Amino acid sequence: PTESAHSTPLLIKSLLQSGVRYERTQEIIYRDQLRYDYSTLYQRVCRLANALTEAGVKPGETVAVMDWDSNRYLECMFAVPMIGAVLHTINIRLSPDQILYTMNHAEDIYVLVNSDFVPLYKGIEHHLTTVKKTILLTDGSDKGSDMLGFVGEYEDLLAAASPDYDFPDFDENSVATTFYTTGTTGNPKGVYFTHRQLVLHTLTQAASMGALDSNRLLGNRDVYMPITPMFHVHAWGIPYTATMLGLKQVYPGRYEPELLMQLIKQEKVTFSHCVPTILGMLLNAKGAQDHDFNGMRVIIGGSALNRGLFDAAKARGMRLSAAYGMSETCPLISAAYLNLELEKLDDNQRASCLIKAGVPGPLVEARIMDAEGNFLAQDGKTQGELVLHAPWLTQGYFREPEKSVELWAGGWMHTGDVATIDQYGTIEIRDRIKDVIKTGGEWISSLELEDLISLNSAVAEVAVVGVPDPQWDERPFALIVPKAGQTMDARILRDHLKPFVDDGRINKWAIPTQIAVVEEIPKTSVGKLDKKRIRGEIAQWQEA
Ligand code: ADP
Repeated sequence: PTESAHSTPLLIKSLLQSGVRYERTQEIIYRDQLRYDYSTLYQRVCRLANALTEAGVKPGETVAVMDWDSNRYLECMFAVPMIGAVLHTINIRLSPDQILYTMNHAEDIYVLVNSDFVPLYKGIEHHLTTVKKTILLTDGSDKGSDMLGFVGEYEDLLAAASPDYDFPDFDENSVATTFYTTGTTGNPKGVYFTHRQLVLHTLTQAASMGALDSNRLLGNRDVYMPITPMFHVHAWGIPYTATMLGLKQVYPGRYEPELLMQLIKQEKVTFSHCVPTILGMLLNAKGAQDHDFNGMRVIIGGSALNRGLFDAAKARGMRLSAAYGMSETCPLISAAYLNLELEKLDDNQRASCLIKAGVPGPLVEARIMDAEGNFLAQDGKTQGELVLHAPWLTQGYFREPEKSVELWAGGWMHTGDVATIDQYGTIEIRDRIKDVIKTGGEWISSLELEDLISLNSAVAEVAVVGVPDPQWDERPFALIVPKAGQTMDARILRDHLKPFVDDGRINKWAIPTQIAVVEEIPKTSVGKLDKKRIRGEIAQWQEA
């Protein structure tokens, strides 16, 4: 391509500049401890950029962060890429070994560590092969640290730095962020996103969540608080979108249910997003039981939104809608959308639409494919692997050539999810390929079973996995957490599911013959049902 003197690179700095231009007095809030306006945000990002430059950070080098959801994290999401460096958002819920692996693999040179994670960090620092300098993030008064290469405490460094920085233009294809998938099999895999990708993702997110009047989710009078870790796909990229639009933003730090509730009430939060299990926790938090959420919109993604949770949230005045994406996709691919035809449906049918993975936004192309690479019919019934095109998908796994080729086989990104697409373009995720239960020659969707089981009023949480069966190949096995004071057993479950067999929604093999009533279901590092672990540990429940 020919370079034009007039071509404007798509850079993350424009997102921040936009927010400050729109709303200089709008607030950024951190827990019940700190609030400041967008002008200050801009100055703090400049100060951080100066402090990092002073510490030696060069374009192309990787700066890692270990923190809860904080205003400081937001500042890093801008300052680090804006000086041309790469932000590595460390998944602090991985095991220490996995964290060590990701830091060495990403070649982190600088690390910002929240004091809560210093013990963890100290435990691995002697095995880190590339880290040279460390910065402490703390809410406390102790600003010293014995971490190797200690540069100083964040607020001290900012206070000492200049509030002006002339952020340069550079190639929009420079990598801005990197992080690791949660590693359900083998080592975590690194994905990475460029300035251009993040800017296009942000613009599309704003368009598909904000500008569409039907099922409108986000506008600039909204008050935003993430309940998704910022290390989990940049909190789904929404901090970038919220900043670009100049929204009031609330960062809750470590998730403490009572504090989350307090912030929602005090700051009048109207918009959030999380995985289903976290929402379940929030609805049961102290101070939430009798709270009317007054139309608060919550996007549920990362796992299927089941009807039980949708209804429970609705009864508290929350408006849920689903979205779909993955680490490899930056993440936004699709969000629930009611078009003119669907809008006319009754409440019950509209709810069925809102819990599906939704319609791909602008610039996204989604298809379903069979194992031979043929495209399948988009009739809402035919199932196949969901494959994608969009400008913001990771171009591969960092330094994993073979896995990258697999991911992009045939020029489409393979999601590993089985889906249907209907005549409206709505994607419905049927299951992960590896979680589908194959029984008696039939395929059963573990997600669909979970959805139906969630409708039983005694069920607080449910996970269904396939377990080996000598006669049927596999059989579904359900782990159920009952609601307080309720009972659940295989017979109650069978009676509950029988009508769905009678009306043809599921076949009779789908009724789990084995269930275990448990207090807790194993979760992944981001709070999803951990089916790999459940399958691995199934023996304990089978015997129980
Ligand atoms: P992990 O695979 O470790 O969970 P991700 O956070 O990248 O890592 O999760 C992406 C996966 O989450 C998708 O491939 C899909 O299986 C699941 N997922 C995301 N959104 C939805 C949704 N709306 N409905 C069903 N499954 C979803």
